[in-house]
Amino acid sequence: MNLVLMGLPGAGKGTQAEKIVAQYGVPHISTGDMFRAAMKDGTELGLKAKSFMDKGELVPDEVTIGIVGERLSKEDCEKGFLLDGFPRTVPQAEALEKILADLNKNIDYVINIDVKIDVLMERLTGRRICKDCGATYHLVFNPPSKEGICDRCGGELYQRADDNAETVQNRLDVNVKQAQPLLDFYQSKGYLRTINGLQEINKVFGEVEQLLGDLI
Ligand code: ADP
Ligand code: ADP
Ligand code: ZN
Repeated sequence: MNLVLMGLPGAGKGTQAEKIVAQYGVPHISTGDMFRAAMKDGTELGLKAKSFMDKGELVPDEVTIGIVGERLSKEDCEKGFLLDGFPRTVPQAEALEKILADLNKNIDYVINIDVKIDVLMERLTGRRICKDCGATYHLVFNPPSKEGICDRCGGELYQRADDNAETVQNRLDVNVKQAQPLLDFYQSKGYLRTINGLQEINKVFGEVEQLLGDLI
């Protein structure tokens, strides 16, 4: 099962990715998570990514494409992968085609989580993440049973530095610009499947499961 999750920031990619990974056991490859881990470890990659992420800009393609190529060639991707947050530009999508061709792999589906832009500010500013296991919550739409504490592991919840109103606005502007050409690219390849991301989290996952049923 070789999958790409697409959708604007806040569409629900990470939330659905957690469920897909739990159910189907594919490795979750999130470029955002990889950059945040590198920043935390203070590596060269982290230093390169930080200034862009802080402003809500895209990290340059040459940096991003390199780390994805490396990751996809690891052994755990033999049985499949779930890309989340990559590609975000047509040049990234074209580079991915080449990476996969070299590895003798194909994309099965690009799952586009479709939402109206006006719900995203509230989703992103209310997002909270577990410091220990990375689980995603929302203060209103998906609250933990105990405030500030992860249901899964008891870890402390935090707010991402780029989930403040000003940076969110810039991320939305930047990503909206890239979105349509990318959708057109995958539509023309026949990979694109669109799911209504305005439904409740479990309903969205129900549709994902229905789609993935064809692959197993
Ligand atoms: P992305 O990875 O696409 O940026 P997330 O999965 O992190 O998005 O979701 C953004 C925020 O919206 C999180 O706080 C999450 O709990 C919440 N969320 C995700 N899906 C839904 C949904 N279908 N309805 C309401 N809130 C959602
Ligand atoms: P979200 O989906 O909520 O925007 P991510 O965790 O996917 O959050 O991305 C956070 C930041 O990481 C982005 O604002 C951008 O700076 C960087 N980033 C992630 N994926 C990419 C990508 N494919 N290309 C360029 N920059 C990226
Ligand atoms: Zn946790």
